[in-house]
Amino acid sequence: MQDTQQGKVVIVSGPSGVGKSTICAETAKRLNNVYLSVSVTTRPKAETEVDGREYWFISKEQFQERINNGSLLEYAEVFGHFYGTPKDKIDEALRAGKTVILEIDVAGAQQAKAVYPDAEMIFILPPTHGELAERMNNRGREDIETAEKRLDRADSEIAAAWQYYEHMVINDDLEQAVSEVLQIIQGSQT
Ligand code: ADP
Ligand code: 5GP
Repeated sequence: MQDTQQGKVVIVSGPSGVGKSTICAETAKRLNNVYLSVSVTTRPKAETEVDGREYWFISKEQFQERINNGSLLEYAEVFGHFYGTPKDKIDEALRAGKTVILEIDVAGAQQAKAVYPDAEMIFILPPTHGELAERMNNRGREDIETAEKRLDRADSEIAAAWQYYEHMVINDDLEQAVSEVLQIIQGSQT
């Protein structure tokens, strides 16, 4: 509950392939008392992914059930699949005074910010559009058609981000980006 909240919520968004997962994992490693939220999704699991690590992969029916019983903090449909943040773990982590990192899209970020108005909102930008395409290819997680769909969405996400996000971090050099994210989180706790 908001009244008993002690920890801090940090929302990290950005176009697919920009390096959000890499930055969040690296940031979480360097913080004490942190909880990196694992979302539920109806997207099919890629071969490189492990259930419960990147996401909890669930069916559409299971997702609908979670919406119905109010167990999601926020959810959104992205690229034709549903993604949502389980609420129970977030509340538990905040009560324990942890920094909670949510890696979610722009629509979900607005819902989460409405629940946690003090949340820090960080948007990760690619150095160039070409580099974003390159990273998505290197990741090799999806076919070309899916990758192109994801790239097409990047421009509109970036445009929307300028309205909602307090912090914009360019992920050119990974170390630099992680250190900027750490500074934002640590700065907000003083
Ligand atoms: P996202 O979670 O935003 O979809 P990932 O974290 O999966 O993106 O990163 C996409 C790819 O880009 C991965 O192969 C990752 O290793 C690589 N990557 C991340 N940050 C950088 C960076 N600063 N420079 C070069 N490659 C990067
Ligand atoms: P991907 O399939 O590339 O892992 O994620 C696709 C998009 O879904 C990304 O923009 C990612 O931030 C977003 N996403 C992942 N989990 C959640 C979530 O729990 N809620 C919302 N709203 N978006 C999410």
